[in-house]
Amino acid sequence: MALIVQKFGGTSVGTVERIEQVAEKIKRFREKGDDIVVVVSAMSGETNRLIDLAKQISAEPVGRELDVMVSTGEQVTIALLAMALIKRGVPAVSYTGAQVRILTDSAHTKARILQIDGQRIQADLKEGRVVVVAGFQGVDAQGNITTLGRGGSDTTGVALAAALKADECQIYTDVDGVYTTDPRVVSKARRLEKITFEEMLEMASLGSKVLQIRSVEFAGKYNVPLRVLHSFQEGPGTLITLDEEESMEQPIISGIAFNRDEAKLTIRGVPDTPGIAFKILGPVSAANIEVDMIVQNVAHDKTTDFTFTVHRNDYASAFKVLEATAAEMGAREVSGDTDIAKVSIVGVGMRSHAGVASRMFEALAKESINIQMISTSEIKVSVVIEEKYLELAVRALHTAFELDSPSGKGE
Ligand code: ADP
Ligand code: ASP
Ligand code: MG
Repeated sequence: MALIVQKFGGTSVGTVERIEQVAEKIKRFREKGDDIVVVVSAMSGETNRLIDLAKQISAEPVGRELDVMVSTGEQVTIALLAMALIKRGVPAVSYTGAQVRILTDSAHTKARILQIDGQRIQADLKEGRVVVVAGFQGVDAQGNITTLGRGGSDTTGVALAAALKADECQIYTDVDGVYTTDPRVVSKARRLEKITFEEMLEMASLGSKVLQIRSVEFAGKYNVPLRVLHSFQEGPGTLITLDEEESMEQPIISGIAFNRDEAKLTIRGVPDTPGIAFKILGPVSAANIEVDMIVQNVAHDKTTDFTFTVHRNDYASAFKVLEATAAEMGAREVSGDTDIAKVSIVGVGMRSHAGVASRMFEALAKESINIQMISTSEIKVSVVIEEKYLELAVRALHTAFELDSPSGKGE
């Protein structure tokens, strides 16, 4: 008998009918004799609806109160699913994050899980109950409700699987696995049988929202067997694994991720002296703004240009900070651009292949797509391009790296 943690995302519990379908599915698993802990998200659209309500009161709602409110979305679905299970004769009980005691830090709206008390769940499992836990939420040491950041139910699922030493964590969603790129953007995207934690972590952090980054971090750290599957279609899904097989067939790149959430800022004509990066980025980081890509150009006339990207939500504040810095340093001008997108190719196969970046640049050049910024690491190459070319770029790269599915139907 195995212990399985199953997480169902927002669209999978988006209507009462779907919740009934999920209950049927869980019932079938139970009949095989497995112990099941279920984690659910709020009904699709509900978290956005709640955030919009808060924004009608205040443009920047207080994090503590926002968490009290958005956590209600998951409280509704746990109860509905438990009712649907009980109706089918499957003993079930629902718990909020605080009731389990999913202890987090106090960073409202982006809290980190510190500890999970598995006792209550273990006791229920022993009694033969299916335990339904609210995703995305926890409680801090002072008893305040916290949430784990958008997409955080994935992390609840994996963290519970780690804490309970589950045999597998299954993430059920509206696609049948992890694809070479978002199948909603590239119809020729292919489902991957397997992907390494390392690659999945890069994909997630570079914009593939199929799994929340922290869930992958947890799974890698605690070696939780993790699988992404379709909620309502049979199939093997995608296994996220530790091993990096040295097979001849290993592709150079495993996937393409993209992100429309960044904006670019440039400060021109800054004196090229030691400490300049710190002078420019110090105040940005002091304003709690995270910087992603950075480019500093070579100076010709003792002045240089400095460009970096931030999350689009931080663009206006970053611009203000930069204007203040520019005035102080006597820089020539500050400019910015929000119509950019970042496209990244990811793959452990890059380690053993030369020329991957130039193949990427060639594919983009063929489509006359201008590259504005580049950054590389051992297993990824990212470029910033004009947003309107994003889909074209992703499709061109997908073809150039021979990732297209032969049938064009994702298999
Ligand atoms: P859930 O509500 O179940 O958590 P999400 O919307 O968070 O679902 O994640 C699933 C979505 O992720 C898919 O519908 C798909 O559009 C998107 N996605 C982005 N990149 C990928 C990828 N590489 N493989 C599969 N899905 C991806
Ligand atoms: N309901 C939350 C969100 O929409 C958490 C999740 O779905 O994973 O972000
Ligand atoms: Mg999600």
